[in-house]
Amino acid sequence: MVEASRRQVIVQKYGGSSVSNAEKIRTIARKICDRARTGVGMVVVVSAMGDSTDELIALAQAVTGEHVNPSLREMDTLLSTGELVSATLMAMAIHSFDQDVVSLSGQQAGIRTDATHGSARIASINNERLTRELDAGRVVIVAGFQGLDEAGDVTTLGRGGSDTTAVALAAALKADRCEIYTDVDGIYTTDPRIVPTARKLKEIGYEEMLEMASLGAKMNPRSIELAAVYQVPVLVASTFEDVPGTLIHGGEPVMELRRAVTGIALDKNVAKITVRGVMDRPGVAGGLLRPLAEAGISVDVIVQNTSDDGATDFTFTVSEAEAQRALELIKQQQETIAFRDVTSGGGLAKVSIVGTGMQNGPGYAATMFTALSSANVNIDMITTSEIRITCIVKRDDVPAAANALHTAFELDS
Ligand code: ASP
Ligand code: MG
Repeated sequence: MVEASRRQVIVQKYGGSSVSNAEKIRTIARKICDRARTGVGMVVVVSAMGDSTDELIALAQAVTGEHVNPSLREMDTLLSTGELVSATLMAMAIHSFDQDVVSLSGQQAGIRTDATHGSARIASINNERLTRELDAGRVVIVAGFQGLDEAGDVTTLGRGGSDTTAVALAAALKADRCEIYTDVDGIYTTDPRIVPTARKLKEIGYEEMLEMASLGAKMNPRSIELAAVYQVPVLVASTFEDVPGTLIHGGEPVMELRRAVTGIALDKNVAKITVRGVMDRPGVAGGLLRPLAEAGISVDVIVQNTSDDGATDFTFTVSEAEAQRALELIKQQQETIAFRDVTSGGGLAKVSIVGTGMQNGPGYAATMFTALSSANVNIDMITTSEIRITCIVKRDDVPAAANALHTAFELDS
């Protein structure tokens, strides 16, 4: 008889809080064994235990003293050890349940990256070793968030990078899906702590998830981008509770995806910078924002009014933490770019309605603005993309705004 089909392969990822102590590691190890015994090929990516990455960073700073930055190369090798600890311990736990298992570093798993220490990008994955271990019937545990650059040095993928490792391995192995296990049990229509009627979504599209992720819901946006490019279905679910999670995918829109508005994304750390009386001529916007880009400050909502007397106001938002620095950088340019004054204001938030179903329908903006006004919420700035409408409001207004929108777009459970 011929083998009916290729064996199913699943890539799982467990976050730091899921593997923060020996007991949790044993609990997960048992679950992994049960799943492996159904005949599924299992690759499991783990993050460093609990806050151990933060602890390693603190240690590095302690040995160099406050005023010297640790070498980025040494830092990456140091941080990669956090994931090696959890990966090897997980393999030992699984072995104690009589399951064949092997743990691999990122390097051993064939992950090659560019040389940008601290935020390396994956360049390629050679899946030979992984495939060989799977074929031998072993569960493969892979240390997350790390790889090797061309010079043979260890790199890390940036904070929260284990999600990216997992999705990349799933793509390289053409796995059936990637499962991200964490301390939340899925993706919600909005933050349930702010809107009590928020519902867990059964599924969400990649694009929508990207909007939800960059605006608050937990998952590394880079990993979602990667999943979208390689069409890897990603399940986000709870590590310890046995409840259905949320499937992120790009398949045929079914009932729920057809909904015009899928969720309300919230970002409560917004500040705005207003540059008044800016000369209205080419090069001004670029000139103002270039130094911010060079300083790594990302600018979000940008509004520029048309001018009537040759001068205009130019307003943009940044994250609250970067507002002071952004303000100083703009001030420094008053000599080269003529403007009257610049001010900054914090205490703002972004409230967005997100959904691919909005693309061709008129009226969503009007419904949104009406709902906000009925809740007595004043809109400061507005911006839109094809699948999102965002309003900047006062941070204190977020609960009223989010609840009103959740009801207006029929998302309540
Ligand atoms: N341990 C790394 C971090 O804390 C990577 C990860 O958790 O995904 O950022
Ligand atoms: Mg972590």
